[in-house]
Amino acid sequence: MPAPLTGSCLCGAIKYTISAPVTELRACHCTNCQKASGAGGSVNAAVPSSAFKLTQGTPKRYASIADSGRTLYRYFCGDCGSPLYSQRATAPETMMVRAGTLDDTSGLKITASIWTRSARSWGHVEPSSKQFPGQPDAPAPTK
Ligand SMILES: [Zn+2]
Ligand SMILES: [Zn+2]
Repeated sequence: MPAPLTGSCLCGAIKYTISAPVTELRACHCTNCQKASGAGGSVNAAVPSSAFKLTQGTPKRYASIADSGRTLYRYFCGDCGSPLYSQRATAPETMMVRAGTLDDTSGLKITASIWTRSARSWGHVEPSSKQFPGQPDAPAPTK
């Protein structure tokens, strides 16, 4: 994949780049991601915060208590509402970037599915991925 990766929200007010290689995606089926996305959950690329750069705009931040009990900051576009990324309050060194906001994710696969016990009956749990009924323990990056 070409580096840096680029991404944006739906309306284009917020743009970002990722200068680290993204090799895998994690699907989260927790109830918070369902509400935040309006869909079956979220699909995320875990990237080091040092490799993530906002190049335009400032997202809004919403602090939620995750199903794991941790505080999770969810960042989204205040104009169009696209969820962009999330960060654990206790692990600011990692960001979970919503894969659907990346411009190009060709070749990437979902390698892990978490919170599968709350997956919707119509939600897709990737059968080839590692599956966790809840939050996987370390060394998995973040939610
Ligand atoms: Zn937007
Ligand atoms: Zn989630």
